Amino acid sequence: MAAMTRSQAQMRTREKWEARALELAEARHLAGTARLLEQGFLRGLYGVPSRTAGGEYVVIEERLHGRVTCSCPAGMRHFPCSHAGAH
Ligand SMILES: [Zn+2]
Repeated sequence: MAAMTRSQAQMRTREKWEARALELAEARHLAGTARLLEQGFLRGLYGVPSRTAGGEYVVIEERLHGRVTCSCPAGMRHFPCSHAGAH
């Protein structure tokens, strides 16, 4: 029971996180700019252009738990970022 409640809470947190990332991507006109770098069985790698640093950040989508991580400073601290929302 407690475990179920916890997983539901995590689900809500993930949905919020993804909604925020999408919002940021749209605000920065990054939605749809991700390009697929590598399509693996367990994860997908995407390159998303960085507006501030130049070059691009790498967004990793872990298919197993649907987790998305990004190599930018915010992403590395597990904050939603526009790059994660762009893929
Ligand atoms: Zn990022």
